[in-house]
Amino acid sequence: MSMDWSRGRIIGRGSTATVYVADRCHSGGEVFAVKSTELHRSELLKKEQQILTKLKCPQIVSYQGCEVTFENGVQLFNLFMEYAPKGTLSDAVRNGNGMEEAMVGFYARQILLGLNYLHLNGIVHCDLKGQNVLVTEQGAKISDFGCARRVEEELVISGTPAFMAPEVARGEEQGFASDVWALGCTLLEMITGKMPWQGFSDPAAVLYRIGFSGDVPEIPDYVSEQGKDFLRKCLKRDPNERWSVVELLGHEFVGKFKDSVFDSETPTTVLEGGFWDWDSLETTQDVVPTLECSCSSDSSSLRNRIQSLCSDEAFWESDDDDEWVTVRSNGEELN
Ligand code: ATP
Repeated sequence: MSMDWSRGRIIGRGSTATVYVADRCHSGGEVFAVKSTELHRSELLKKEQQILTKLKCPQIVSYQGCEVTFENGVQLFNLFMEYAPKGTLSDAVRNGNGMEEAMVGFYARQILLGLNYLHLNGIVHCDLKGQNVLVTEQGAKISDFGCARRVEEELVISGTPAFMAPEVARGEEQGFASDVWALGCTLLEMITGKMPWQGFSDPAAVLYRIGFSGDVPEIPDYVSEQGKDFLRKCLKRDPNERWSVVELLGHEFVGKFKDSVFDSETPTTVLEGGFWDWDSLETTQDVVPTLECSCSSDSSSLRNRIQSLCSDEAFWESDDDDEWVTVRSNGEELN
């Protein structure tokens, strides 16, 4: 199998795949990003591909195709997408200092436009965090649809503990409002340069605190009143009280960026019928790197659930710096 593109250096490593920069051999060296994993363990990446192929929105990373290749004796599944040379929002605050509040508001509006598109189309992202928002010439774009699912799909708790909403930490539900909580956490990450819930050594402690303490992540004093108000609307512990993406788009913290040059129109129409006609996807459940977890809402068993999740090392998939943990648990495995 000959490739008409060549694989370059690694630009990111996640729990499901490795991301490389690549260029096309015969088109003046057009650069793109390719997310690859071994074909025999590519179910999640294939699911991501099937979601991404349907999405078209200026605030969502654009899909550019997929291909199976045979390299060094290994079959790989490759997903092509636009390349973001500036990396992610996390990279932008990697120095630990955070960014100016105006920039946070500017990016917040773009993330909201991307989320609005997703939510209108019935998709919950489920793993929003700075590391999954790319920075491009056209502004911020949401990426990594490896945890995304239709809102009506069976509950599969997934995401990154520090960004999980209380109802997600408790394993009760993960809906549009949970993405809004994660947005609040992502903005705090932008403001402070650090993940929310600092000072916890292990994910179990973070999940307990989020799920059962009644606390919300700390908003620094130096944030403006407007910024604090916006964050508080995102970080309401009760998902029913949390503001929706549409309501947040009307908040003055982001409203002032409405006519910025980056503010390209978001398509708002719900995609045509057939969008969710993916029967084949229903069968992918059992190949999610899964650790058994009961998603019962009875709170004594919830504590057990968190405990058993956290004691099972395989459950925690972490990348090199051990900081950015993505977890997936399959609510199906009840018995
Ligand atoms: P996770 O563990 O969060 O599920 P993943 O395996 O799904 O990760 P991604 O989050 O999609 O992988 O990508 C991993 C990293 O690669 C990102 O955090 C980012 O740094 C980099 N990356 C991904 N896509 C692109 C892109 N299109 N352009 C530039 N960098 C990218």
